[in-house]
Amino acid sequence: MSYNSLMAQQTFQPVDSIPYFPDIEKRVLDYWKKNKTFEKSLKLREKSPRWTFLDGPPFVTGLPHYGSLLSSIPKDVFGRYWTMKGYYFRRLWGWDGHGLPIENKVENELHLKRKRDIEEKVGVKKFIELCKKYVNDVSGDWEWYVDHIGRWVDFKNAYKTWDLNYMESVMWVFHEMYTKGFVYKGMRVSLFCPHCVTPISNFEVAMDADNYREITEASTIYKFKAAGEDNTYFLAWSTTPWNKLVTTALAVNPKLTYVKVKVNNENFFLAKSTLAILKSTDYKIVETMKGKDLIDKKYEPLFDFFTIDEGKEAFVVKGGDFVTADEGTGMVTIAPYGEDDMKLMQKENIHAELHVDEEGVMKEYVPKFGGMHYLDANEKIDEDLQKRGLIFRSDTYSHKVPTCWRCHTRLYYAPQDAWYVDVQKLKPRMKETNESVNWVPDHFKYGRFLKSMEAAPDWCISRSRYWGSPVPVWECECGERFVPGSIKELEERSGKKITDLHKPEIDDITVTCKKCGRNAPRVPEVLDSWIEAGSASFAERHFPFNPSTNSGKEKLEDFFPPDFISEYTGQIRAWFYVLHVIGASLFDSPAFKNVLVSGVILGDDGRKMSKNLKNYPDPKLMLEKYGGDALRLYLLGSPVMMGGDILISEEEYRNQVKDMLLILWNSYKYFVLYANQFNWKPIKSNPSQHLLDRWILIRLDETGRNVTAFLDAYDTPHAVSEIHLLVDDISTWYIRRSRDRFASGDTNALSTLHFVLTLLSRIAAPIAPFMTEEIYQNITGGESVHLTDYPIYETADDADKKLLGAMRTIREISSSGNAKRKEAQLSIRQPLSDLTVTSFWPMPTELSQSEAEQYEQIIKEELNVKKINWKKSKDEKLPISVELNTTITAELKDEGDARMLIRKIQGLRKKEGMKLDEPIVVYAPAWPASFESQIKKKTLARELKKGIELSVKRIETP
Ligand SMILES: [Zn+2]
Ligand SMILES: [Zn+2]
Repeated sequence: MSYNSLMAQQTFQPVDSIPYFPDIEKRVLDYWKKNKTFEKSLKLREKSPRWTFLDGPPFVTGLPHYGSLLSSIPKDVFGRYWTMKGYYFRRLWGWDGHGLPIENKVENELHLKRKRDIEEKVGVKKFIELCKKYVNDVSGDWEWYVDHIGRWVDFKNAYKTWDLNYMESVMWVFHEMYTKGFVYKGMRVSLFCPHCVTPISNFEVAMDADNYREITEASTIYKFKAAGEDNTYFLAWSTTPWNKLVTTALAVNPKLTYVKVKVNNENFFLAKSTLAILKSTDYKIVETMKGKDLIDKKYEPLFDFFTIDEGKEAFVVKGGDFVTADEGTGMVTIAPYGEDDMKLMQKENIHAELHVDEEGVMKEYVPKFGGMHYLDANEKIDEDLQKRGLIFRSDTYSHKVPTCWRCHTRLYYAPQDAWYVDVQKLKPRMKETNESVNWVPDHFKYGRFLKSMEAAPDWCISRSRYWGSPVPVWECECGERFVPGSIKELEERSGKKITDLHKPEIDDITVTCKKCGRNAPRVPEVLDSWIEAGSASFAERHFPFNPSTNSGKEKLEDFFPPDFISEYTGQIRAWFYVLHVIGASLFDSPAFKNVLVSGVILGDDGRKMSKNLKNYPDPKLMLEKYGGDALRLYLLGSPVMMGGDILISEEEYRNQVKDMLLILWNSYKYFVLYANQFNWKPIKSNPSQHLLDRWILIRLDETGRNVTAFLDAYDTPHAVSEIHLLVDDISTWYIRRSRDRFASGDTNALSTLHFVLTLLSRIAAPIAPFMTEEIYQNITGGESVHLTDYPIYETADDADKKLLGAMRTIREISSSGNAKRKEAQLSIRQPLSDLTVTSFWPMPTELSQSEAEQYEQIIKEELNVKKINWKKSKDEKLPISVELNTTITAELKDEGDARMLIRKIQGLRKKEGMKLDEPIVVYAPAWPASFESQIKKKTLARELKKGIELSVKRIETP
């Protein structure tokens, strides 16, 4: 028979013995692209109910890393899953490209050191052009990664935060928030980066623990001389010498107890509970009072180079609830560079002197220190005060300080005349809308999310930068504002055509003030890019301006709030939070229904992944080596999918190949081998009554049911583990105990395995899309597993449960029997006469007669025994005990020897390269005579002859 005619006989494509998964995945990828399978899967569900998804856009800077792959994987799993379940699941990629990261890249390209160089040396127009060019250039690299992890997503129509349409929707969002009274302009203190010269949101810093730096610096107790009292001082504690220059008030807690103590010739005021700071110094309490009694006492300023604004107070003690006696002296210095400070100054009408410029440099009018960087001035200021005897004591102090998430410059709090979202006003609404959100894992709902929401300050949304959506406010000198909600509205008011909302063009647009008729310019700031990320639900669809919305085809409730979003824990304070703020302020609605929060993948040393530390394997190399399914199985099966952090492990990644993919592959290969050998074809037939066939089908049902329940709950680790268990059951029990049936071409066994592999492909398709596609296409001839429906399972009936229970017991007896054999050092080929199973529960009484016989048969074959004795124990606690009869009679010995000889002969045949059906002559030193005919039959030996050693010979055909 020629090779070609042999192939023609085969039903299925032969399967590689040693598969290389990345190559198989490449073939599948090419097929998907050529066949447009993804597009077809969407088309198929075009008219179906929607399952809406919102993609959190990655920043365009940099290459994809494990973090970006990690968040892409569940987005793909649930996209495929809900599509197979019959929903239309739109999947649009997005790009986040405004803001500091891009500006920093361009600044670096231009070798700019300071923000002012952008305007003075480059010009805003050119700078913005370079930003545009930068964001439009990057992104190509992502497609390779996204393809190779098997993610189906629409790249071609990706939304970009810097597109005109997107920006118009952001303008609309701002307008809505402003009109509803949730945006205000005001002087507030917020974190400030003196390098980027812009305020920074507290959550931008809090997103990543690496944004905090541990430092040690001076902690000083200053002496502020009480006015009109000789040798009497207020002792106040501070770690910021640079703002002692402008300390215009001291604060005490009105409720705390303070004392005036005499030490040598001097008197000091401090909180009573802080007396320990005087250490062993001899002191005498002269007077005791409450904090409120100190209020309005005056002191002499440490520096007096500035004049006090008319009508303002200065150099006076005030009361503040925020003052504690936990650290220092229970008395603190007040300057406009702190949140509590500023609030107190505004409340008490205290003069605020701003002596540091926007780059963190002391202004020129400051004597001695003008021109110095604020941190450089610290030591010199303390020296000066020391010389003047105004320092009580100086220590060092270690604490964590926030740094800029972009340039890692240390941040400080500075007053900003900026635009804020009134988060305080929104909080009650936000708490309420959080109630209906399904958080996975659920502890974030009332844990980290609620806690950080409760603690959130008002959100500073304006940035004194260039590359971003404009703050859409035109403000007249008279105070009147124009806040357009669309480009059309702006065009009508300005009389100009608007084609770009970016700086500097947008700054050329002015409007006429409705109140006084003057020309009103736009305010100079751009929006925090988080406003854009938080507007994604609307802006990615150009809502409410797109034609579908206007024609009434697309309504808000068709896509908002989205059914599903997913990102990592860092976004709890960031993206999830800003979406939530905007959802609550615009529609009094939650911003999403289900949110899956993944954890963080750390380097193999437990630190953040870092190129310099080389503490992680290159993701591209890994994908090329082990493939995308293995990465998916690794991550989807790990606690990182339940908000936990994991250390990257190449070993665990690799193990997915060995422990899961190869095992499944071998079962598939096994099926194809025998199906082809016996020319088996899928035909409809009555379900097999064989116990093992019935069992594996029930296990398949059970797995399908459980995986569905877990995926419905967005729980991938349990879904993966269910699939894993079934793959193991197929290989290590079902096939293992059905070998003889497969080897003889048993139709029931082949049909059952075919059915199991087909359904398993569909169940596991969202999790391991490549491997399941490969198997499904070959064994069914179908177009794609991803175009099929997800199997639906009903609840298990009692008979099924009984059978599952029975098989569990069989396997328990088997493994216990095998352990006993090992203990007695008895080869599995040595038959034994009987074994005794003792248990409290009589077995196997719950099964029918024929079932019970098959049940026994499985154990007998697995343990190679002739007979099973069932014994009932009186001991309730005894589950199962297994005893082997290890007496080997001469007859059993012969049978065992014969089986071992057969195995050796088969081994030799293989070694000599003989075909399985080739007749041979066997030479052997000895063999059990009573088994001679069986040996000959099993090994296809024509003759069994005496020889010095065991050997096999071909029969030469004449
Ligand atoms: Zn910075
Ligand atoms: Zn006006």
